[in-house]
Amino acid sequence: MNTPEIRGTTRLLGLIGDPVTHSFSPTMHNAALVALGLDAVYVPLEVHPENLEAAVRGLQACGWWGFNVTIPHKQAIVPFLDRLESPAHQVGVVNTVRIETDGSLTGTNTDAEGFVQPLTVRQWIGKTALILGCGGSAFAVVAGCQALGFDQIFVVGRNSEKLKDFAARLPNPQGVKTADWFMAESLLPRADLLVNTTPIGMVPDIENSPLENLKALSKGAIVYDLIYRPRPTRLLQIAQSGNLVCIDGLAMLVAQGAAALQFWTGKVPPIEIMTQAALRALE
Ligand code: NAP
Repeated sequence: MNTPEIRGTTRLLGLIGDPVTHSFSPTMHNAALVALGLDAVYVPLEVHPENLEAAVRGLQACGWWGFNVTIPHKQAIVPFLDRLESPAHQVGVVNTVRIETDGSLTGTNTDAEGFVQPLTVRQWIGKTALILGCGGSAFAVVAGCQALGFDQIFVVGRNSEKLKDFAARLPNPQGVKTADWFMAESLLPRADLLVNTTPIGMVPDIENSPLENLKALSKGAIVYDLIYRPRPTRLLQIAQSGNLVCIDGLAMLVAQGAAALQFWTGKVPPIEIMTQAALRALE
């Protein structure tokens, strides 16, 4: 059984976002909670932006254990938290909150940890990354690339004001350069890693790709799409046809979820069970 039994003692975990109906997190986390034998359950909660503070105070008042935070609340939630742990405190983007025993709220961000997980098999010191998009997850991707040792990181975006704001908010701008979207193709020959952090290609937009031609990438380059629906995206299909190494967003989804579960419970997460649950949800 992949759903925990609910009793009077059951502790509550969940996800706040708008929308949340598409999320695999409930399936993944409940499978993990059952496997760990924890008396806890994970539920999705649709919270509209105007209700964010009331929802957070409600979870606090009801003694929840913790919750994940997704679009559009990852930055808006920061003023309602009591403290931020690294790397959330540097970038101001939160995807996980723990409610402490005194009721105070600790925010963190597990996306960077999730992002690097499938990349750790290679040595990246001195290499160059090209990141498409400069939204919330791009902060985590930059932090992850810096942790892996990348020498140069290019971030391209379609909106010059947002790009400027992104650059200004980077806690460690060393080695990071921003460029307009139209520069992406010309930067391909320099990239050892190409990362898509835009939603282009995600269901229902499956016919589209942020870039149509990847021929300028070097043969050993990796193409990493944060999207996990569909698998593969059109970007990864183009990369596969050029015999490039591809990574989709599933491993990151599982790894960021596992890190969140450990942050709440202190237990070692059952990665394989979480992966199988996410795959079942995808089917
Ligand atoms: P976000 O904060 O909304 O950022 C999206 C970025 O993509 C923004 O810079 C946005 O630019 C840009 N963008 C959107 N449409 C574009 C277009 N047509 N052309 C060029 N740029 C475009 O979203 P996010 O939280 O970073 O998430 C982005 C994607 O990553 C989503 O698909 C999400 O599902 C995925 N994700 C996956 C995981 C995982 O665990 N696998 C984790 C986090 C996110 P504007 O600001 O100008 O709109």
